Amino acid sequence: MYGEKFIGKVIEWRRDIHSHPELSQHEERTSKLVAKVLEGLGLEVIRNVGGYGVVGLLRGKREGKTIALRADMDALPLKEETGLEYASLNEGVMHACGHDTHTAMLLGTACVLSEMKDNLNGNVKFIFQPAEEWNPIGGAPGMIRDGVLENPHVDAMLALHVWPLYETGKIITRSGSLMAASDRIYLTVHGQTAHGSRPDQGIDAIVASAYIITGLQSIISRSVSPLDSAVLTIGKINGGYRYNVIPDCVKIEGTVRTVNSDVQNQISELITRTASNIASAFGATCEVEYVKGYPPTVNDSELTERVCESVRKHIGNDALIVAEQPELGAEDFAFFARERPAVMAWLGCRPLNQSVKDTAMLHNKKFCPDESCFIYGINFFTGSVIDYLNS
Ligand code: MN
Repeated sequence: MYGEKFIGKVIEWRRDIHSHPELSQHEERTSKLVAKVLEGLGLEVIRNVGGYGVVGLLRGKREGKTIALRADMDALPLKEETGLEYASLNEGVMHACGHDTHTAMLLGTACVLSEMKDNLNGNVKFIFQPAEEWNPIGGAPGMIRDGVLENPHVDAMLALHVWPLYETGKIITRSGSLMAASDRIYLTVHGQTAHGSRPDQGIDAIVASAYIITGLQSIISRSVSPLDSAVLTIGKINGGYRYNVIPDCVKIEGTVRTVNSDVQNQISELITRTASNIASAFGATCEVEYVKGYPPTVNDSELTERVCESVRKHIGNDALIVAEQPELGAEDFAFFARERPAVMAWLGCRPLNQSVKDTAMLHNKKFCPDESCFIYGINFFTGSVIDYLNS
């Protein structure tokens, strides 16, 4: 496979980045490391794109299309409990979503493709983005605003995410929706306070809220098509003053996950309609704020087919798993995938001898991806790029 001779280097970068995790929008050290490596390879490098984003451009020998590869660089506010010798030195910050591995694998891919540039028809743009975990804003929109998809114009885009549910050696993807939109809802129910013994003199915001919450549960079950996936969860409710006072205000917060934009818009409208009409049945009012986060991540069907073919060809028939369903987590690669034909794939990173039950998942303080997966990640990118540019 491609890149075997760079694996030692990739592990070294990954461990270095892992020990020095940086939160969203603070990826200064990581971005410097990335820029230095890319400059060392002779790429055209632009720093500070959309924050601490770094872009490296590799020009092939002959004219052709431009394909962009994206890695994210930020970490999470968690206290690491892996016990690794290269564990976080930055107390309370941890690479618990594997973005350290994404960055290192993309640097490894840049090493491999740099050596092959005389055989490439077109360009490869390496995009290292900040603030993936910074929902609902994210890091991708800032890079897009700063022009990352132009000069040269990007024709297609790929990204990887380590995925501990699957074992090392597997590449998992699907055509269409891969990840969900993650939105937030804030409801404020206004009533009128009164003595707890005289409810007729007030408007009970708590009773109205109870009906609103129950009513919202019917949106998914009765209004959204049973063939579409969606989740509506109320995660927080706050209101009232004292056991014997009818409260005039209740605040409710929740999240909505959808895998297609039509359903997302439908649910947004239905929440407002349901909540305000139920409130009005009680003489109360309900303000609804629907905050859209990351859109659904949708893989381009034609590009997905090409990438799957490349995985079979360069890694092996057994390596590819076509996911039957999307995941309801969210990913800000979705912003790129809205602008260009794009494919995101998951990279199995569960050690071969380890059960799913014994494996820490993403955003877990014990998350510890298998470094043997790096070679497969590098070959996913490298094989796909060669086939895309040279066919
Ligand atoms: Mn992630």
